[in-house]
Amino acid sequence: MKPKPEPNGIDLDRIEKAVREILYAIGEDPGREGIKDTPARIARMYAELFNGPNEDPRRHLEKVFTENYDEIVLLKDIPFHSMCEHHLLPFIGQAHVGYIPRGKVIGVSKLARIVSSFARRPQVQERLTTQIAEFLIREIDAQGVAVVMEASHTCMTIRGVKKPGSIMVTSAMLGRFRSDARSRAEIMSLIRDR
Ligand SMILES: [Zn+2]
Repeated sequence: MKPKPEPNGIDLDRIEKAVREILYAIGEDPGREGIKDTPARIARMYAELFNGPNEDPRRHLEKVFTENYDEIVLLKDIPFHSMCEHHLLPFIGQAHVGYIPRGKVIGVSKLARIVSSFARRPQVQERLTTQIAEFLIREIDAQGVAVVMEASHTCMTIRGVKKPGSIMVTSAMLGRFRSDARSRAEIMSLIRDR
């Protein structure tokens, strides 16, 4: 069998083989009509869901605008999904990303792209939240960065304790949002305000 092209270094053949093994292991026949293409399909899906490490999130910061604005910029209710690294099951929710610029602002859609870039890898929500915040404060030299994420974890809703409806909330507050209680209170009320 000739090797398939590997998108961004993700080994599709290897995923396919592994999924076929899992199907055998659960007593299925991987040759069965309905599932014969499943290993290849999952390989392509994983290439998409785990593509984050192959993308440098800094590419979303190529356009930065100089602007004399030093109040809060907040993009809230950004839908995101990621894969829990303990079960390889999705967790799905919303991210709220805010910052206080120091002379530099970025296109607002870029905030969503940065979230997605860090989400497309095996993750835990705590680390995902921190990675986005640390990346932003480092790369745009903001006075403060706040990231709040709320997500439902399918590894909790469909297995284990089976608690559908439970939402996990994580937050990372850096710079002014960490040192100044008023800035923190302001962004939290902007996030909560529906
Ligand atoms: Zn999990």
